[in-house]
Amino acid sequence: MPLKLSPSLLSSFIITIIFFSEPISSSISSDDPVWRTIEEFSGYPTHPTSASLPSPSFSVDTETLQNQIDELATFSDVPAPAVTRVLYSDKDVLARSYIKKLMEKAGLSIREDAVGNIFGRWNGKDTSLAAVATGSHIDAIPFSGKYDGVVGVLGALEAINVLKRSGFQPRRSLEVIMFTSEEPTRFGISCLGSRLMAGIEELADALKGTVDGQNISFFDAAKSAGYNLNHEDLKNVFVKKDHYSAFIELHIEQGPILEEEGLPIGIVTAIAAPASIKVEFEGNGGHAGAVLMPARNDAGLAAAELALAVEKHVLESGSIDTVGTVGIIELHPGAINSIPSKSHIEIDTRDIDEKRRNNVVEKVHQSAVSIAEKRRVRLSKFQIINQDPPALSAESIIRAMTIAAEKLNLSHKLMISRAYHDSLFMARISPMGMIFIPCNKGYSHKPEEYASMEDIANGVKVLALTLAKLSVD
Ligand SMILES: [Zn+2]
Repeated sequence: MPLKLSPSLLSSFIITIIFFSEPISSSISSDDPVWRTIEEFSGYPTHPTSASLPSPSFSVDTETLQNQIDELATFSDVPAPAVTRVLYSDKDVLARSYIKKLMEKAGLSIREDAVGNIFGRWNGKDTSLAAVATGSHIDAIPFSGKYDGVVGVLGALEAINVLKRSGFQPRRSLEVIMFTSEEPTRFGISCLGSRLMAGIEELADALKGTVDGQNISFFDAAKSAGYNLNHEDLKNVFVKKDHYSAFIELHIEQGPILEEEGLPIGIVTAIAAPASIKVEFEGNGGHAGAVLMPARNDAGLAAAELALAVEKHVLESGSIDTVGTVGIIELHPGAINSIPSKSHIEIDTRDIDEKRRNNVVEKVHQSAVSIAEKRRVRLSKFQIINQDPPALSAESIIRAMTIAAEKLNLSHKLMISRAYHDSLFMARISPMGMIFIPCNKGYSHKPEEYASMEDIANGVKVLALTLAKLSVD
């Protein structure tokens, strides 16, 4: 194989050889940092002298990573092992400065946007090229665990550290992103930071009127956390489509499949498309004893009937991939001896097939209308909060992740993410991929959430190798 390559392309060439299993050329120096990195990561004897290379100062620093995960979990409004860390709360602010401190320690240049998405960048050899990004979130719903999102932020920082320790030099810049508010806890909007980055104008407009459960506006809450922004600043959060050449998120599976099948790595091919709906019915209410059954228009029963209709329409789709959940039913006035005069229900439905999911939403709407008519209540609200398209992982990233896992001798499977993540929105502005690692019994969003350090370290290695590969592409 001729080696008429410019020096700047040499790194790319070497990685290409390793990734695509070309025969090894003895004219490549074993001192090349990219070379050494890949050899050390993969444990794959790709070079005649690899066996004699000093061993592995390149491995994942599991002790430090575990300490960081534990320390981050202490920024919580509830005692361990549970974690509660809600957007712009005091604990969120402390956790943010902890992340920035770690980014600084890793030698990254830090930038924060108007809503507090945090970016730590390692400049590549060619800063004119679009960067390769990775990251996740650190906010935690009430009484959840310490791994959801966190593994994809602290793990990403460790992946960068692993590459740095190895002497690797990226050609494209590498960037770690900590997204603001992946969880919808405070303002009812999930993936707030990444949605804004994806340039969703409707969200920027909606935030003007958004308040939390305590009637604190989004802007006041942000201000209390040190983000003094106005509506115009939200547009500056938008990121252009060619800003990143790739985005990869490392995450716990939040389901039981990898653990059950004894697989250390899941390679996500698609993220299911979520939709959420708020519905309200209004009736006359009345005394639970005095108003006889024929005279009632019970808003509570309308909600109950709609909840069952959601299940029916989901099952009618005939696909195991269609799911629907009614997680909230609130009745007003909420007294045992009062016929509900108002009901509020929230519906979540998802599918990997957008058309099928939209069909469920449409049928739920038809049911809400007919239930209101039949029960003589008013359908005072049928609001589709979000109806997002599914996201497909980029072929090129699936390939890079797969080869990385193979080089590391880690068994893996292609799978669908049924939970959604910041990656769903990053996919709108960048080629996207996700790496899953197993978690104990699939538990998530509760204190029992757990991922072993061995599994986390495997995920970090696959991430590091994938970043290395994509950064020289
Ligand atoms: Zn998450």
